[in-house]
Amino acid sequence: DTTPVTRALLSVSDKTGLVDFARALSERGIALVSTGGTHKALTEAGLPVTEVSELTRFPEMMDGRVKTLHPAVHGGLLAIRDNPEHQAALAAHGLQAIDLLVVNLYPFEATLEAGRPFGDCIENIDVGGPAMIRAAAKNHADVAVVVDVADYAAVLGELQAHDGSIGSGMRRRLAQKAFSRTASYDAAISNWFAGEIGNDEAPTFRAFGGTLGQSLRYGENPHQAAAFYRSPGIARPGIATARQVQGKELSYNNLNDTDAAYECVAEFDPARSAAVAIIKHANPCGVAEALSLLEAYEQALACDPTSAFGGIVALNRPLDAEAARKIVEIFTEVIIAPEASEEAMAIVAAKKNLRLLLAGALPDPRAAGETVRTLAGGLLVQGRDKAVVDDMPLRVVTARQPSEAEFADLRFAYRVAKHVKSNAIVYARAGATVGIGAGQMSRVDSSRIAAWKAAEGAKRIGAPDSLAKGSVVASDAFFPFADGLIAAAEAGATAVIQPGGSMRDDEVIRAADAAGLAMVFTGTRHFRH
Ligand code: 5GP
Repeated sequence: DTTPVTRALLSVSDKTGLVDFARALSERGIALVSTGGTHKALTEAGLPVTEVSELTRFPEMMDGRVKTLHPAVHGGLLAIRDNPEHQAALAAHGLQAIDLLVVNLYPFEATLEAGRPFGDCIENIDVGGPAMIRAAAKNHADVAVVVDVADYAAVLGELQAHDGSIGSGMRRRLAQKAFSRTASYDAAISNWFAGEIGNDEAPTFRAFGGTLGQSLRYGENPHQAAAFYRSPGIARPGIATARQVQGKELSYNNLNDTDAAYECVAEFDPARSAAVAIIKHANPCGVAEALSLLEAYEQALACDPTSAFGGIVALNRPLDAEAARKIVEIFTEVIIAPEASEEAMAIVAAKKNLRLLLAGALPDPRAAGETVRTLAGGLLVQGRDKAVVDDMPLRVVTARQPSEAEFADLRFAYRVAKHVKSNAIVYARAGATVGIGAGQMSRVDSSRIAAWKAAEGAKRIGAPDSLAKGSVVASDAFFPFADGLIAAAEAGATAVIQPGGSMRDDEVIRAADAAGLAMVFTGTRHFRH
């Protein structure tokens, strides 16, 4: 599936590498067409090139505002090669197909960075360039589009390797890059314009390619404007695709916490167990898996009922009546589940304000995706943490092997730790968390908090020993020193799961052996900030 390239249209503001690239195209027998400035550069280099105005039989006009906005250009870019009607239209109007488009845009971003006045910025908004790029990218089945000087060499390499053609794989990659370029170009214009007119109502996340999903009353705090944007073209089930069945409008914090809750509970395969996660401030305050949702909810709640008040409850199976009846007993902000039974919905309906979200399905924890956060003047983007403990090569590093029950709890605790802000320490027993330490700057502090919560849990139910006794403990990153591990042993944990990889692993392993602990290294850490 290759298209031989016979005609190329070049229209570039940044003329870096232009002459060499065009010469190589010309030497392959490719006919060159270009706009005024590009044409000048190429003829000065002695290359044969036709001016676009010859093709359009129209002069470039209005200071270059109108150069290529003409059917001779857009017909040549958009005509489908194996569509007889399209070909007949080209012939009827004396137009010629263009197989390769090389465009880089008016330097809007550079004009802005140079601090030029408003009028200069406006003049540097390219109109014809993005139109051609989009036309060529849409018709990538027949046309290759190059928007980046850095791609010239690869395109020449492809022409060389494919006997003067550009393969469909490269055409598709170039088309995707082209759309990304026009999107970021328009985002730059829109963000600048928002600043010029003093519009800070809707934070401009267009750079992320989002479409406005919901204007929010405010952000994390009432003095912050906020909105929820959907990533178009991404159909990952979750907060963005969930249907709100009832309850008050979701707030910024609700959306953030509900997302965290649903992503956490999605770690648990509904075919294997019923799982419930209760989330506050984007951290789990209780997670459990059991045979029924009711049981899982009760155990998740028992971990930290004080914090669970006003929390978000996420379930990995359709909400049933018995779980719904229990959940509505305390004040809960949001329930999210894949589905809900009629009876469960009726029970929830009695609490008018309680938001019920049905997401249809669970997100796949292993699915690709990205997370984005803003920095002053920029974005930090990373792939989502799709590492799952079941896929990790678990290595027992202590003299003692974990028992089967301990192993199950170790995996459970590590699954939960992935969703706890760092430093994360999770005590778990029999498929339920009994103490969670989250978000501390020191791992020892997180350990102390988790152990203290487990001790409080015991007091609450009148148990003689801390709930950490006989539990296992997970740490989202390695123990840098033995002290955190010793604290866990003193709290009563019998087994530990952590990534390993510390300079002092030997010391930590010795401490584990001395305390009779079993310890497993995962090799993969789960930082979450
Ligand atoms: P040149 O230096 O060849 O005269 O112009 C190249 C620049 O013009 C490229 O950045 C290209 O994107 C832009 N361009 C091409 N056609 C048009 C048009 O019809 N209108 C505007 N405003 N810019 C165009």
